[in-house]
Amino acid sequence: MPKSSVPASSVTMITDQGQPEHGNLTGCPWHDVKSKLRDVGLRPTRQRMALGWILFAKGDRHVTAEMLYEEATRAKVPVSLATVYNTLHQFTEVGLLRQVAVDGSKAYFDTNNSEHHHFYVEDQNDLMDIPATDVVFGKPPMPPEGYEIARIDVVVRLRRKQG
Ligand SMILES: [Zn+2]
Repeated sequence: MPKSSVPASSVTMITDQGQPEHGNLTGCPWHDVKSKLRDVGLRPTRQRMALGWILFAKGDRHVTAEMLYEEATRAKVPVSLATVYNTLHQFTEVGLLRQVAVDGSKAYFDTNNSEHHHFYVEDQNDLMDIPATDVVFGKPPMPPEGYEIARIDVVVRLRRKQG
């Protein structure tokens, strides 16, 4: 039976152990990645499986293509930066990832595809989650004729207090 998401408990376990190892998995994230891909109609190719493993086995996080490429290289996954880009965009198209645009030059990909918002620490290029319930909208703008609001993403920009 395909599972729609990795159970939170297995994610925590892997995070606590540091680098996941292929040999001794109890929650079997490898199998979960395969199911994730199959569920959204993506063929579980070797590269998608390897990148999916690196992305999803560590719980909720935000990565750029460059960060994922670096992790893949360290994990000895033979993959080009272009393939990492393509794979991230494919995963986003099918809803496995959410893209968070913080500025024009950098796209972050979020493994948490549920509704939430973000703090962005400007001088550290760091994203932190804000629970959806912590942001209250007084009055969303009226969309133009023929459109409806698909979702509202809030990025709250932070900087260190001066002095
Ligand atoms: Zn997030």
